[in-house]
Amino acid sequence: MRYIYAIVAVILVALAIISIRMMLMPEREQPTVSSYQTKNFSMAKVSQHLSKALQFKTVSAYAKRDASQFSKLRDYLGATYFSVFEKLDVQSSPGQSLLLYWPGKDKSLKPALFIAHFDVVPEGDDKDWTYLPFSGAMKQGAIWGRGALDDKSQVISSMEAIQLLLSKGYQPQRDLYFYFGDDEEVGGKSAVQLAQQWQDKGLRFFAIFDEGGAVVKKLIPKLKRTAALIAIAEKGILDLQLKATAAKGGHASMPPKRTVIALMSHAISKLDELSKHQQVTPIARDFMSHIDRYLPLPQRMIFANPELFTGQVMKYFSRSPLTRTMLKTTMVPTIFNAGYKSNVIPIAATAIINIRLLPNDSEKSVENKVRRVVAPYDVKVVPVSYTQNRHISSAKTMAYKELQQSIWQSAGMDLVITPWVTMVATDSRHFAMLADNIYRFRAYTIRPKALVSIHGHNEHITQNSLRDMVNQTQILLQEIGSLDN
Ligand SMILES: [Zn+2]
Repeated sequence: MRYIYAIVAVILVALAIISIRMMLMPEREQPTVSSYQTKNFSMAKVSQHLSKALQFKTVSAYAKRDASQFSKLRDYLGATYFSVFEKLDVQSSPGQSLLLYWPGKDKSLKPALFIAHFDVVPEGDDKDWTYLPFSGAMKQGAIWGRGALDDKSQVISSMEAIQLLLSKGYQPQRDLYFYFGDDEEVGGKSAVQLAQQWQDKGLRFFAIFDEGGAVVKKLIPKLKRTAALIAIAEKGILDLQLKATAAKGGHASMPPKRTVIALMSHAISKLDELSKHQQVTPIARDFMSHIDRYLPLPQRMIFANPELFTGQVMKYFSRSPLTRTMLKTTMVPTIFNAGYKSNVIPIAATAIINIRLLPNDSEKSVENKVRRVVAPYDVKVVPVSYTQNRHISSAKTMAYKELQQSIWQSAGMDLVITPWVTMVATDSRHFAMLADNIYRFRAYTIRPKALVSIHGHNEHITQNSLRDMVNQTQILLQEIGSLDN
């Protein structure tokens, strides 16, 4: 009987803790309207401009990059946004990238940097597209083509916003830089060079803004509100090569006890298990504490008490493509090589493992984990390449607050805005040493299911989303441009 009392007591205490914590949910900032206004513009014209920009085949990953398509797009922008190119300073920039400088009135303020890119990934097979990938078709209230979301819509939105602000005589307080990359999709060499030049000059930014988050409908099951995800971090990328050479080769008619292919296969299946390991990271906690109040009671309980419901939290996160990889450093074999003839047992097998690191996982610790897991199979590990990921920006700065306000005002006051970590790599990572805070966000609205279109087929942006982007950029530029610290 005593045991039953004890169990009941424990349950009651647990329930009390859960309810107290739910009652103590920190107050969230209420949506506020910015004091800055947007200027009206013709949606038909802006759509035309994007449609035209989508027709240039600025594919950076083609084996033979067509440089003329990049210069034609630049010429097109120059002619379409004449006043922008006349009033802002077009500075020299690496490769075929474009760098615009808008001088501010107060030179004592740190400048801000706005990043976008106009190169795109290859279009794939034309047959998979409803409208041809470089047609810029304007159909069904949307503009269709490769680059519609990633990232020509922001190139156009930035140009439109600057033009609108210039037309009403606006001049920022701080210097504003606009960097439009020409090779973001193939690693961003231009960005690397530019960042190096700026570092040599000792330039530091107040904040950096780039792509990486968006407005998402039906982000996770049961969340009724539309969410805006601001990525305050991005995953790092580590490529490791695995090598198995510790088995004999020979003729296939007389197989040895073990083969390099079998050893490698065992090692990789063990890595598969390792890659399922999940952890509730600080960013995931922050994320949950922003959306918990908009979930029904059972889910709210789970999100408000992640330490008590770790298993459920992980299950829940796994149900959306936007949160699925948020709790884990993913590892996947992408290249596998062994053997050349059907009757010859190879003496070496190699594989490349592509690893996407959470910001709290260091590349060394992950490499060591992999080493330990594959060691029993006599498989060696050689690091191939690594891009940094340790940079986590604060969601408490003025810049973040201003960004929030620009989102509420342009995309809807009922949006729940939350920090997030993006799984893709952006050009902003190359500038990480030049600023404490990088915020990655685009104001288009998307459903998780439609995300595959970004590097897949039928990429398109609705006119409503494009309108939100132009308005959000107008507000953000004024807010960041006018802050006096
Ligand atoms: Zn992109």
